[in-house]
Amino acid sequence: MPYRENLGDVLLNVEDLRVIYKTDLETVAAVNGVSFTIKRGKTLGLVGETGAGKTTTALSIMRLLPSTTGRILGGKAEFNGRDIMKFDDLMLRAIRGNSIAMVFQDPMTSLNPVMTVGDQIAETIETHNEKISKNEVKKRVGDILTLVGIMPQRMSEYPHQFSGGMKQRVVIAIALACEPELLIADEPTTALDVTIQAQVLNVIKELRERLGTSMLMITHDLGIVARICDDVAVMYAGEIIESGPVEDIFSPKAHHPYTAGLFDSVPDLRSDAKRLKPIPGLMPDPTNLPPGCVFAPRCSRAMDICAREHPKKTVSGAHSLACHLFGGTGA
Ligand code: SF4
Repeated sequence: MPYRENLGDVLLNVEDLRVIYKTDLETVAAVNGVSFTIKRGKTLGLVGETGAGKTTTALSIMRLLPSTTGRILGGKAEFNGRDIMKFDDLMLRAIRGNSIAMVFQDPMTSLNPVMTVGDQIAETIETHNEKISKNEVKKRVGDILTLVGIMPQRMSEYPHQFSGGMKQRVVIAIALACEPELLIADEPTTALDVTIQAQVLNVIKELRERLGTSMLMITHDLGIVARICDDVAVMYAGEIIESGPVEDIFSPKAHHPYTAGLFDSVPDLRSDAKRLKPIPGLMPDPTNLPPGCVFAPRCSRAMDICAREHPKKTVSGAHSLACHLFGGTGA
């Protein structure tokens, strides 16, 4: 019996999302039937290697795919029960940066270098609160900067006057300026050095606890997942191959061979990870995916059936995985 969430708890429900990038020369199958839910106040970690389709999934939910090449072929993304895939431009503008905000890897792609950080935060507040007074805006800018650990006096400074970690805090402040219900963070600390990474993650964690914001945390870093996620979805070649509560994914129980490989390639995350063993090979060419299991070309446990048949999901409580080793009763 497939696990069903209590729908009242679910903020975002993505079902069977399929996305391609199409040019005159080729068609890239970027997201192939992805489904997951994010519960209110909870953080889902979307984990996988570069090129797995994580960012495309996030951009599709925001309906921000490049218009010339990106195409959503099917599926739905219900936010508070309403399918974003059916929204018109007006509804999309209302939801972006208001109910859903996004933080990208490189803070400079989100900041305007010729505007003070205070003005940038104020602009976001004013866009979403037309009748708010100047004094109230200024007060809220100061409050938000304090919230992310920046002194309000710095609101009149420009982005180049901030360090990398501080810039990312500013970006988070802008994202939170309208108190979104969902924050999508795409590798928010990858461009930062390790100490600053830890500080920014602490800011994100504290904010989530204080504001109750739900989060989609996109990362390739299992350490980040362990620190801040409640649930995990492991993505490979455009598919979610395993998902479940963080305790299940980090437990030594049976896992999809790709998830097991991910843990074997990082130190000290699970007690049975004795030595580092990178997964051999590369992700399959997304213009020509294998007909059976997409991990088969790299899987040391592959069987004959794996090259022929795409594995169905096996579900046990809130934990699910797609691999022929575990039956695949369908879900
Ligand atoms: Fe490996 Fe087969 Fe499982 Fe794919 S379905 S992960 S190839 S054992």
